Amino acid sequence: MRKIDIFDTTLRDGEQSAGINLNTAEKIEIAKQLERLGVTIIEAGFPASSPGDFEAVNRIAGTVKNSIVTGLARCVQKDIDTTWEALKVAEQPHIHVFLATSPIHMEYKLKKSPDEVVEQAVEAVKYAKKFFPLVQWSAEDGFRSDRDFLVRIITEVIAAGATTINVPDTVGYASPQEYGQLFTFLRENVRGADKVKFSAHCHDDLGMAVANSIAAIQHGADQVECTINGIGERAGNASLEEIGVAMHIRKDIYQVETGLNLKEIKRTSQLVSRLTGVVIQPNKAVVGKNAFAHESGIHQDGVLKHKETYEIISPELIGEEVVPLVLGKHSGRAAFRDRAITMGFDLSDDKLNKAFQEFKKLADRKKEITEEDLMTLLTEQQVSIEDVPLYELKSVQVSYGTENIPTATASVITPEGAVKTLAATGSGSVEAIFNTLEQLVNAKVNILDFRVKSVGKGRDALGEAVINLRYNGFTSTGRDAAQDVLEATAKAYLNAINRHLIQESIRAKQPTEV
Ligand SMILES: [Zn+2]
Repeated sequence: MRKIDIFDTTLRDGEQSAGINLNTAEKIEIAKQLERLGVTIIEAGFPASSPGDFEAVNRIAGTVKNSIVTGLARCVQKDIDTTWEALKVAEQPHIHVFLATSPIHMEYKLKKSPDEVVEQAVEAVKYAKKFFPLVQWSAEDGFRSDRDFLVRIITEVIAAGATTINVPDTVGYASPQEYGQLFTFLRENVRGADKVKFSAHCHDDLGMAVANSIAAIQHGADQVECTINGIGERAGNASLEEIGVAMHIRKDIYQVETGLNLKEIKRTSQLVSRLTGVVIQPNKAVVGKNAFAHESGIHQDGVLKHKETYEIISPELIGEEVVPLVLGKHSGRAAFRDRAITMGFDLSDDKLNKAFQEFKKLADRKKEITEEDLMTLLTEQQVSIEDVPLYELKSVQVSYGTENIPTATASVITPEGAVKTLAATGSGSVEAIFNTLEQLVNAKVNILDFRVKSVGKGRDALGEAVINLRYNGFTSTGRDAAQDVLEATAKAYLNAINRHLIQESIRAKQPTEV
């Protein structure tokens, strides 16, 4: 069967979407999970765009072994040099250079003639080829580009040494039929087309990203670029999980193999949602909370009599099994460690000890520890960063009554190691906490977005809070989980502040130009 390469860009196109800012530890965690999922290529970031991106791409390239790791670069030497610095440790160094080719982008954005664009693309590919064995070149806004110009420039970059040609629908304008035909046209007209891989990259502005990607596969694309949960610029990118499962369930018509380990889909989707703070819509295909819920009586009756009456995908396929409870209040450290390993965590002794302490605390207060609780708890430890001095919540207490003025008292350990305690009022419990913490961190903080939700089911479920705020002029997203939503809120607030401090420390360490 024909093999289609899955190129995941969750950490680049996904991460650059509104409101997301992952730290390096979180990016590494996602990359390791993508490797487990079996994606062919992981686009880990845009190394020349910021020191934080550089560090993350570099660390991921040194960690991931079974997937190819790539970084995005503009068609300029400085970007290619920086990308090489970040990726030279990789098993198979791969670079993704791009340049816009549509008339509107060339004229208004690049302010370059088509001839100049061809020259710049060719030079960049030749230069990248000096370092990288694998060079992917993208025609940004390729779908809206002149067909003859595309043939010309692609022929030239292949001659210059490109190994993959990506023709994105950057603005999400294509229809499946047109996008598919574009690949047939390029395959037939580009000289050297048989020597390279063709790649599709679709955005979901008209809700057709997955359909367009599949059309490209049917018309000769060898690679599709997508993100977990479809996150990405504006309406997002094509959803990896939807493409992967569609290729599997309808193998009869598509006749392709993706190499994905579909059983890792649910976990990958949950991890990305948790770390980015981007919630998955309940009715989202494949990974939504309701994707396997049969609500109408007739449907439920049918499924009970014979599953396939209304169920085309089994929850087990994507790894959504109900895992029997294995840990409780009396479980020891060894059992806890085993469970963490089974769940795919690879924690240092120190982090494992901390996670175990958290687990014991939780087991005292909560009757059943579910798989989801463990996943939350272990992930929090896995992605925690220890070498930067940060704020830590020591305690929080809230006094609330319908007749009183809500008041919060909080104690924090500051990055300097001092313990500070303050109290403030607010029009509600949450505002009282925000007002108290704002004084404790001694800065102007604006709350842009705030959400709380439960992790899993039941009245004693963990509460998870996500906060998007502006601190010292920077936007940052924080999250945390706790037994109580108010505690989770306070921790999420400090987490957002801490993320900014971590970014600052990376910036201070590496004075790379942006
Ligand atoms: Zn894109």
